[in-house]
Amino acid sequence: MPAKIIDGKAIAERLREDVKKTVSERESKGLPIPGLATVIIGDNPASKVYVRMKHKACQEAGILSIGHNLPADTSQAEVEALIKTLNNDPKIHGILVQLPLPAGLDEEQVLNAIQLKKDVDGFHPINIGRLAQKGREPLFVPATPSGVMYLLEDSGVELDGANAVVLGRSNIVGMPVSLLLVKENATVTICHSHTDDIPEITRQADVLIASVGRPEFVRGDWIKPGATVIDVGVNRVEDATRKRGYRLVGDVAYDEALEVAGAITPVPGGVGPMTIAMLLRNTLRAARLADGKDVG
Ligand code: NAP
Repeated sequence: MPAKIIDGKAIAERLREDVKKTVSERESKGLPIPGLATVIIGDNPASKVYVRMKHKACQEAGILSIGHNLPADTSQAEVEALIKTLNNDPKIHGILVQLPLPAGLDEEQVLNAIQLKKDVDGFHPINIGRLAQKGREPLFVPATPSGVMYLLEDSGVELDGANAVVLGRSNIVGMPVSLLLVKENATVTICHSHTDDIPEITRQADVLIASVGRPEFVRGDWIKPGATVIDVGVNRVEDATRKRGYRLVGDVAYDEALEVAGAITPVPGGVGPMTIAMLLRNTLRAARLADGKDVG
């Protein structure tokens, strides 16, 4: 039986509608509209596309979004000065600095400059540190990893005691998603470019998260029958049959995986839309924190 397809697009639309409804309820109660400031430094085309998508999603949800585009040669002090201004701006509840930064800027120092309660991307060292500690909770969880966790929960996947394998250990996906899985009592194995015999490890996985950035890296025979597969990868592969000359594929060979897995996310339409939805939820959460609400 082919795998159940986890429809991230539909789930994300539902979440975005919920955010929109709450934002409009806030407005009718006279509470401030949530505000997100985005900061792009340099001319990375992918960053521009991602930020444009985030702005559009904010607009649709009734969230105020203000973009700051700085040239690639902006100094560390200038970036930190902008963040300080945004930290002090009461209309701005969340600050997102689009990564990666141009060479020469200190990413950790930039993220450290963001006020903790405005860290809607969840990459502030204290938020990440809390994610790694037992009994502590971050104020915000990074959007892509929390989108992955939402999809697992929504699909009714049992994580307690499950064998979870995460392919990739990046700061933005692999590592935080591994920490979140541990918090849910899964037994987690993290694989990376120095790991021997990855297929042997993935075949033990009840839950497999792929975030390596390699097109169709995971083959069907790497997957344990019935496993849940979450494909975070977004890769362009040449395709002359498409008008734009390429198509997007994930880190998993989807057609092969469909025959073996119990459930799987498609690319596109899986994790990608969830990332945006989770950012909107985090921005709303930041506005509620600013109201002085215990947001749990
Ligand atoms: P990244 O920072 O490039 O990290 C890739 C990870 O994969 C690293 O840990 C690397 O190992 C590991 N890796 C690379 N090649 C490998 C190989 N041949 N065997 C084993 N491990 C290997 O990537 P990322 O930021 O996590 O992104 C991964 C993918 O997810 C990309 O396609 C990206 O576009 C996509 N993505 C999607 C979303 C979304 O919203 N859908 C969000 C973020 C990222 P080392 O640590 O040893 O180098």
